[in-house]
Amino acid sequence: MRIARFTTDEDPHFGLVGEDDGKAMIAVVTGDPLYAGIQLTGEKVPLDDVRLLAPVLPRSKVLGIGRNYAAHAAEMGNEVPAEPLVFLKPNTSVIGPGDPIAYPEQSTDVHFEGELAVVIGRICRDVSADGAAQVIYGYTVANDVTARDLQRRDGQWARAKGFDTFCPLGPWIETNFDPTDAAITTTLGDETKQDGRTSDMLVKVPDLVAYVSSFMTLLPGDVILTGTPEGVGPMLPGDRVSVTIEGIGTLTNTVVARG
Ligand code: MG
Repeated sequence: MRIARFTTDEDPHFGLVGEDDGKAMIAVVTGDPLYAGIQLTGEKVPLDDVRLLAPVLPRSKVLGIGRNYAAHAAEMGNEVPAEPLVFLKPNTSVIGPGDPIAYPEQSTDVHFEGELAVVIGRICRDVSADGAAQVIYGYTVANDVTARDLQRRDGQWARAKGFDTFCPLGPWIETNFDPTDAAITTTLGDETKQDGRTSDMLVKVPDLVAYVSSFMTLLPGDVILTGTPEGVGPMLPGDRVSVTIEGIGTLTNTVVARG
């Protein structure tokens, strides 16, 4: 299933993305499927007629994993960490597909980081790697936008990764997705900047869920960003950045100067 959150200039709704006679449609569901399950209203709207929103609203947290691809750690001049390197992005950093990434005046080096995002489906703690599939609701695409200069200057990453708009998510949640070996690409304008595979993650998704749940309770709607492949680089106001994961879809945002 592909679960989208969308608006038609009325209240936000959730729906299932599918096709009717070759045309992409959204079948509207009641409430938030993460909590209420799938209950179709019977109404359908063309995908082209809606504005997609972030497919999940993390009630408590977005967790990030740093340096989970060896080639990316190397390009930043870093060693591969002995254990997963975990940081937090506030839920106020989340935006949806098509929403602008606001370039902050405090930075002159804002980078894209295309990433696979795991959406947690149930409250859990001390999950085993073998049990991770039972607590994962689905997957979406993320851009872990990072003010690289502030990341270096601060040591702590809360500011560098926590600005409003620094966590684009979307275009929808795919519940039928195998994270073991999917292509992940990031393009800036028409230029491909990142071209990796999730099989190159140092710590795989089930082990990441086990690791973070060993010290932090995970709640439904929590999101884990699983790290970025090599090829990160700067964006500027006016740039259009797209992250594509094979089997999920494409998340596109445009960078704007913060007004
Ligand atoms: Mg990252």
